[in-house]
Amino acid sequence: MTIKAVAFSRCACGKERGYDDERTAAKALGRAQAKRDRLGERKGHRRGLYRENRYYECQYGMFHLTSQSRAEYLGAAA
Ligand SMILES: [Zn+2]
Repeated sequence: MTIKAVAFSRCACGKERGYDDERTAAKALGRAQAKRDRLGERKGHRRGLYRENRYYECQYGMFHLTSQSRAEYLGAAA
């Protein structure tokens, strides 16, 4: 296993990447967005580009990144 700058582990909720605390999740979100933005610039547009918008705490107390808004997330969970 390679050591990455931002550590993550599999969460009990089934999500591949979970972050132990909010600070780590925020850092990971920033990195993910920077990566997407560079990709969008290269393509000249950002249409249809998946982009993580926020992170949320799941029922197991870990943090995950998502591209859904809070409303979409709550709607999906209902
Ligand atoms: Zn989880």
